[in-house]
Amino acid sequence: MEAPRTIIAATTNAHKIIEIDAITREFGWHVISRKDAGIPDFEVEEDGLTFEENSLLKAQSIFSYTGRPTIADDSGLAVDALDGAPGVFSARFAGEDATDADNNAKLLRLLENVETERRTARYVAVITLIMPDRAPIVCRGEIEGHIALKETGTNGFGYDPMFIPNGYEESFGVLPEELKNKLSHRYNALLKLKKELAKVDCGSGPQ
Ligand code: IMP
Repeated sequence: MEAPRTIIAATTNAHKIIEIDAITREFGWHVISRKDAGIPDFEVEEDGLTFEENSLLKAQSIFSYTGRPTIADDSGLAVDALDGAPGVFSARFAGEDATDADNNAKLLRLLENVETERRTARYVAVITLIMPDRAPIVCRGEIEGHIALKETGTNGFGYDPMFIPNGYEESFGVLPEELKNKLSHRYNALLKLKKELAKVDCGSGPQ
């Protein structure tokens, strides 16, 4: 089955849309924002306990509104020394209306006395694609790394100024965005989705 011509991104996070667009453009897909699809800016309640549950909730909510092919991304950071926190609470780690700066400050504070070897972490992204008359396809991507002792750089978003991917010396705040989009959890999840789509029988899939 090929990807549909146009896919709506269920997220309202502008940074995620930019990354999803940059990655999927290379696949020949055309992903548009909710705004461009004319969908009002309502909040989808993310009350799932896993990335998979929340990703499916988001995709289903937007798909049921439009009936058009929809992709959702639920993602976050899991820090080993914090037993996997902030996890599904990554966006609201420092509170409901927390900014990236609030979340980053809280993370650095909690890891204050944790030495570099124990600051291991991973980013997780679960991407769900829903198309009419098809079972949802759910794909998880991860990238391993560690949390720096301080923030560096302004590239990316969220925890990027503190996340150093394995094999690199700099954070995603410093590394070029093109590189992040070839390594990231989001890239790995989208690549899996592309492979899943290629595996599924073509049938009369939507085009
Ligand atoms: P969601 O919108 O509920 O999926 O929350 C995602 C949150 O996880 C973001 O607000 C960030 O805090 C964090 N996050 C996910 N992906 C990334 C990334 O690529 N870089 C930095 N932070 C990320």
